[in-house]
Amino acid sequence: MQRDLFDVLVVGGGIVGAGVAREAARRGFLTALVDRGDFASGTSGKTSRLIHGGLRYLQNYKVGLVRLAVRERDRLLESAPGLVHPLPFVIPAYRGRRPGPVLLRFGLFLYDVLSKKALPRRVWLRADAASEREPRLARADLAGAGMYYDAWTDDARFVLALVRQAAREGAEVANYVEVTELIREGERILGAQLLDRIDSSALDVRARVVVNATGVWLDEMRLPRTFPTIRPTKGTHIFLPRAKVGNRHAVALTTKTDGRLVFVLPWNDLTLVGTTDTDFRGDPNRVTPDAADVGYLLEATNDAFPDAHVGFDDVVSAYAGLRPLLRRGREERSESEISREHEVFLDPDGLISVAGGKFTTHRAMAEAVADMVEIRLGERRRNPTSENMFGPPVRPLEEFLALGFDEPSALDLQRRYPPDQVARYVEAPEARDPIVEGRPHVWAEVDIAVHEEMALTLTDVLVRRLGLFYEAADQAFEVAQQVASRMARALGWEAARTAREVEEYRTLVTEHRAFRAGHEG
Ligand SMILES: Cc1cc2nc3c(=O)[nH]c(=O)nc-3n(C[C@H](O)[C@H](O)[C@H](O)COP(=O)(O)OP(=O)(O)OC[C@H]3O[C@@H](n4cnc5c(N)ncnc54)[C@H](O)[C@@H]3O)c2cc1C
Repeated sequence: MQRDLFDVLVVGGGIVGAGVAREAARRGFLTALVDRGDFASGTSGKTSRLIHGGLRYLQNYKVGLVRLAVRERDRLLESAPGLVHPLPFVIPAYRGRRPGPVLLRFGLFLYDVLSKKALPRRVWLRADAASEREPRLARADLAGAGMYYDAWTDDARFVLALVRQAAREGAEVANYVEVTELIREGERILGAQLLDRIDSSALDVRARVVVNATGVWLDEMRLPRTFPTIRPTKGTHIFLPRAKVGNRHAVALTTKTDGRLVFVLPWNDLTLVGTTDTDFRGDPNRVTPDAADVGYLLEATNDAFPDAHVGFDDVVSAYAGLRPLLRRGREERSESEISREHEVFLDPDGLISVAGGKFTTHRAMAEAVADMVEIRLGERRRNPTSENMFGPPVRPLEEFLALGFDEPSALDLQRRYPPDQVARYVEAPEARDPIVEGRPHVWAEVDIAVHEEMALTLTDVLVRRLGLFYEAADQAFEVAQQVASRMARALGWEAARTAREVEEYRTLVTEHRAFRAGHEG
C-alpha cells in the first residue's frame, strides 16, 4: 500500500466498504480497502443474517425502499448462490392483534409484486393449515398465516467473500489497519496515515479519493460538524436450541408486548431470535447484550411458542450490534422513525462518506459511491465487464463426503468452501475431527481460516470464520487454548502472544455472558 498512489482508499471493511472496494476495483480504479479490526467486526457481523426486502417497511409505506431491497435480494440469490439461500417464512395473523389478516395479505401481495419472481410466491394458510406447518406456534386466536420467501446468509462470511472478490478484481485489502488521520493539504485530502494494529507499525498511503464507510464511526473521520450524521440504535439477538423452541420455518412474529416484528430463524439445530431496537448512546466499541433485551426476546419466543418455556439458562449465546442509521436534522425521533435509507455525502475536503441502508442493499450503495468517485476524478468508467458471480461454488455433498468427512461436517463445509480448497488441508493432523464435540466444524477449517482467509487473531477464527462463538454451548471457551496453539504453530506466535489471544477471546465470551448474572436457575 505504501508503494502506490491509489485512485480510491476505502476506509471500513464492513459490508458497505467491501462493496465499495469491489465496485471501484471492477470499474478499473486502483483501490485499497482497510479495516481497523477484522472484516465484518463491526455491525456487519452482528445482523439478523437476512437478505430481505424488509416486509415491515411496507407498514410505513416505504415502497421505494422495499422495492430496492427486494430487487437486490433477488440479484444476490443469482450472483452469490453459494452464500445466499432461500428461506421460507411463516407470518401468523392473530385476531385482535395487528397486522390483521387483510392488511397482511395485502402486504404480502405487494411484496411479491415488487420482486422479480426469483423466489416462490406467497401462499395464504388458514389457521389449521398454519398449525400443520408450524405445530408449536400459539393457536389461540390464530386467524391464519402467510407463507412467503426471503433469504439468509452468514453475514461475516458474506463480507469476507466480497472482500476476496474485491481483491480478485485488483483491490489491495488489509484487516487490522486503522486510518488514524487523513492527510490534508489545504482543503484537499491526499491520503491517510495508517496504523498496523498487529505489529504497531505506521505508514502513509496516498489516494486521489478517500471513501469513509465506517458505519457508526462515520463522524469520527468527517470534518467537525454541528450535529452528527449518525444516530445508532442497538439490536440484540439470541441463539436458542431449536428443539426447545420447535420452529420448523423462519417465523416473523409481532410481539404481544409492543407490537414489534421479531424474527425466529432456523440455524441448523439452533434458533436465532431477534432483534430489539433501542436507542444507544454508549461507546460504540463496546456493545454487548443486556439482560433486559435478552428477557424481551425470551418473552416474545415464549408467547409465540407457548410450550418452549425458554429462559436465560437456555440461551446458547447472545450478541448485539449498532445500526448506523441516518439522523434527519437536529430533532429527536423515535427509533422506528429513523430513516433506513442510505445517503452519500461529499464534504468540502473531498471526503466521500456513505451510511444508512441495509446489508441487503450494499451493492446499490456501492454503485452510488462509485458514481460519486467518477465525478470527483472526472473519469467515466461505467459498464464493468468483469464477472459478477462471487462466493463459494455450489458443489454436490458427495465431493465433501469423498474427502472422508461425516455428513454433518460435509454439509457444513459445503456451505463454506470449494471442495478443492478443503482437499488441500485434509492431510493435516486431526483435519477431519470436530473441534467441539457435537458441532460440525473441523480442525481443517482453522487451517483454511489462517492460510487463506486472512484470520489474524483467535477471535477472527472462532467468531467470524467458524462461528463457534455463537454455536458451541460454552461459546468455545474451553477449546480456545487448543485453537490458539494450532494458530500459533501456523503463524509463528510466541507463547506470550498465544496467551494474550486466549485471554482476549475469553474476555469477549465473559462479557457476552454477563447478562446472565442473577438470571440463571
Ligand atoms: C441488529 C441488527 C440486525 C440487522 N439485520 C440486518 C439483516 O438481517 N439484513 C440486512 O439487510 N441488514 C441488517 N442490518 C443492517 C446492516 O447490518 C447494516 O446496515 C450494515 O451492516 C452496515 O454496514 P457498514 O459497512 O456501514 O458498517 P460496519 O459493518 O460497522 O463497518 C464499518 C467498519 O469500519 C471500521 N472502521 C471504523 N473506523 C475505522 C478507521 N478509523 N479505520 C479503519 N476502519 C475503521 C470498523 O472496524 C467496521 O468494521 C442489521 C443491523 C443491526 C444492527
